[in-house]
Order: sequence, then structure tokens, then C-alpha cells
Amino acid sequence: MSVLKAENIRLVYGAGTSFEKTALDDVSFEIEKGELVGVIGHTGSGKSTLVQLLNGLLKPTEGKIYLNGKDIWKEPKKIREVRFKVGMVFQYPEYQLFEETVYKDIAFGPKNMGLSEEETDKKVRMAAEFVGLKEELLDKLPFDLSGGEKRRAAIAGVIAMDPDVLILDEPTAGLDPLGRDALLSQIKDYHEVRKNTVILVSHSMEDIARLADRILVMNKGHKVMLDTSENVFAQGKKLEEMGLRVPQITKIMMLLREKGLPVNTSVLTVEQGFNEIINMNR
Ligand code: ADP
Repeated sequence: MSVLKAENIRLVYGAGTSFEKTALDDVSFEIEKGELVGVIGHTGSGKSTLVQLLNGLLKPTEGKIYLNGKDIWKEPKKIREVRFKVGMVFQYPEYQLFEETVYKDIAFGPKNMGLSEEETDKKVRMAAEFVGLKEELLDKLPFDLSGGEKRRAAIAGVIAMDPDVLILDEPTAGLDPLGRDALLSQIKDYHEVRKNTVILVSHSMEDIARLADRILVMNKGHKVMLDTSENVFAQGKKLEEMGLRVPQITKIMMLLREKGLPVNTSVLTVEQGFNEIINMNR
């Protein structure tokens, strides 16, 4: 059984007003337990709207969302539980840190779920370790952390709730290249160790190509593809038509192919590209 299923989802903002806007139309897909799915698409393609629907922050105008086989809006009073199970890290989550210590900020979610002090403590320490926050930072004011540390503290606050699905909306936005690489490898470790489902929204093809098992491509409120990275990047032309930049190495392979060289265009890393070229003469 899939962990999340979207069935013919339509989401209209401001229905019946002059600002009416259909953000998503007839979107259906299934995500299997333990998958790491990347969501990619141009600004305004509906990515943020989609992930907010998946954790019950928005209600579909039409269609259904199933979490572990259950329609999440069947009992609207229980939607809070869905928000605990589908943990959401918003864009620039560090702006939501508000407690007087980093520890209290990370503990906020598990406490809210009704966990005991002892259980909360375990979750806080486990989550801090996952995101690479040192113990001694836990007693500090969130305000005193660096930008990257604040980001990690905010992500730890969601991981501490031990969600079935972790959604991260542009988690590396605004970080320097080192901070970006470190955070991405921590997300990868979290996914591999916990075997939890992760949904990563990003406009960076490189980030997504490195991490995702499958990629969901959105365009103008529609699902265009949900497939393995190799299959998605093999459709480089189609992606470019939607204004999506394919990884540079994939672009090079597309150009070589256009020149008549028999290379595979679905390569994702420089190493794979290198092997394709080396093996061409054999
Ligand atoms: P993305 O995350 O891919 O940039 P969004 O889900 O934010 O896309 O937006 C999809 C569409 O819905 C866009 O056209 C956007 O302008 C519109 N939209 C998003 N949020 C709102 C809102 N609260 N009210 C009205 N329109 C919105």
C-alpha cells in the first residue's frame, strides 16, 4: 500500500472571486513507503500548494488525499494527526524559531503531540544528531546560531515529531554551497537510516538528481511525469520547454547526441558522463 496517494486533485484559490486561480488540476500519483521523491517545477507550477495539500494544511477543492490508505479529510477533526504524521519543513523555516532555547524549539512539536518529558528529550537529542547540531548548541538562544544552524534546528523540530513522511520545501534555499551539500547529505542519511518517506521540493535539478529515487515534475498545475531520475532526465528537451534547467552534464550529453554521437542522455553525474564518452569507441 502506498503511504500517500493523491487522486484527481484540483485546488482553486479564491473560488468565486475575481482572484480565482486554479493552482492544481487533475493531479494523481502514489508515493511508496520509504521513497525519496523530488518535486520539481517552475515557480508557480503548484509545488507548494501540492505539499500543503499532502499534510492537510489545504483542503482539495476536488479529489482525495490518502495517507496510509485513509482519506485524510474523512474526519476533518482528526486533521491535526495528519499534520503530525506528514511533517512539513517550510521554506526559510528558521523564521519560525521562537522559543528561548534551541532545545525548547526542537521540543515544541513532540510536546504538542503529548509526549512525556523523557520521550520528548530522547526525540530532541535524536533529531539534533540527525541534522548535525552539537549538544552544546541546544542551550543557546536560537538567535545566536548561524544561518545554517538555525535552518538545522528548525528541521530538527519536525524530525523530532518522528513523522511517517518528511516534506522539505526548498530546504537549501539561501545556504552557501558548503551548507547546501552538508544539509543534503544529512537529508540523505536521515532517509537511509530511518527508511522514512521523504518529499523534497526544489528548483535545483542537481540537488534532486543527487538524492531522489523518483522525480515528480509539475508544470502549470499539472503533473507532467513521475518517474526515475534517469527517465526524467532522458526527456531533457521536454524539461527545457517547461523552463527547467537540466543538470549541466545531462545538457552536454544532449548536445553530443544532437551532433550524432551515440551517447545515453540520461546521465546525472559527471562520472557517468565520463564513462559514456570513454565507452563510446568500444
Ligand atoms: P510553486 O510552489 O510551484 O511556486 P505555488 O503552489 O506557490 O507554486 O502556486 C501555484 C499557483 O497558485 C500560482 O499561480 C500562484 O500564484 C497561485 N497561488 C499560490 N498561493 C496562492 C494564494 N494563497 N492565493 C491565490 N493564489 C495563490
